[in-house]
Amino acid sequence: MKKPTRVNHPPAVELPPDNHALVAPIYQTVKFHFDTLEDTERYLRGERPGFFYTRASNPTTRQLELLLAELQGREECLVAASGVGAISQTLLALTKQGDHIVCFVETYNPTRYVIRRLLGRFGVTHTMLSIEDIAGVERALAAVPTRLVFFESPTNPVTKIADIGALTRVARAAGALTVMDNTFAGFHQHGEYDIDVFVHSLTKYASGAGDVMGGAVIGGGDLIRGLRTDFGTLGGTLDPHAAFLILRGLKTYFVRYQAQCASAQRIAELLAPHPAVARVHYPGLATHPQHALARAQMREFGTIVSFDLKGGLQAGAHFVEALRLFALAASLGSTESLVLAPQMMRGRDLTPDQQRISAITDGTVRLSIGLEDPDDLVEDVNQALAAAQ
Ligand SMILES: *Cc1c(COP(=O)(O)O)cnc(C)c1O
Repeated sequence: MKKPTRVNHPPAVELPPDNHALVAPIYQTVKFHFDTLEDTERYLRGERPGFFYTRASNPTTRQLELLLAELQGREECLVAASGVGAISQTLLALTKQGDHIVCFVETYNPTRYVIRRLLGRFGVTHTMLSIEDIAGVERALAAVPTRLVFFESPTNPVTKIADIGALTRVARAAGALTVMDNTFAGFHQHGEYDIDVFVHSLTKYASGAGDVMGGAVIGGGDLIRGLRTDFGTLGGTLDPHAAFLILRGLKTYFVRYQAQCASAQRIAELLAPHPAVARVHYPGLATHPQHALARAQMREFGTIVSFDLKGGLQAGAHFVEALRLFALAASLGSTESLVLAPQMMRGRDLTPDQQRISAITDGTVRLSIGLEDPDDLVEDVNQALAAAQ
């Protein structure tokens, strides 16, 4: 074998069957092959297990799927290249022309785009309501046969809590699927509710490090397996190396989530009585209008703390620029703390009435609490509040 050939066929190193890697290797390969043509054909006919092409499946991404399904308490999971990738592929796979979706103003902005603009182009209609309007949901479901209800809880950025029991009951009664974007609450929450499909951004709490993107859809076996061909063909595949980084992040998921929630509670309690602050939005505060519902539905209340500064836009600008430890950046759930100014959260696609429902005011600031020492975060927020006044 000449050397240019050899570099393309390097010596094989195989572990003895009784010798195991403690951390699963990254299968950074697009292609897999079987020993014989007959086995290849049997695989292609679905008669034997295995892997063939990473766009369809890969052992590293499959390990992540199996773990996420178990964390969320469902049978099956498919991962995708980003959270929005998982959402758009799920909605494309679940709907067809003429279907109707019930969705909410208090929904992640790109999800609204997917439902209103993208699916709208293919003849999927929608009704957009307030997440607090369960009676409106019942009316919409009674008026139009509905394929699915898409919702989040806590909502972004003002942490409204969806009444999951009520929503799932009215949707089930009307024969509509429920799809919940559970990114804010995490994989260990809400699994006990009668929710058909969970979608998650893995970019946030799963990785934790803010250095990799991914998304997942999780649900019952038949339903999720029914999406697999569409997912593979739409092609927003998660790279195995990204899956490995997310698997690594998940090892510290519970300790990170708990520590960051504890810091979020402390920051919320610091903000609540402050003279510069009109109102704090954090489900863990007894003053949150849905605190009792949050307590009934959640074990931890998340790491997003939003609040309204009395001084409006100008106070918001002073506050975010005075912070030293919080980066002025999108996203959440990573180890570093982040902040959003009101100008960065306005839903430009919303009507004035929908803007009111979204509850984002001129003074609304969103904090995403990281893993820094909570004393340092408290000190930083205090000095920025002083600067905002
Ligand atoms: C970030 C986020 C998404 C999108 O995830 P990406 O990985 O950034 O594509 C979807 N839903 C919610 C609630 C999010 O916070």
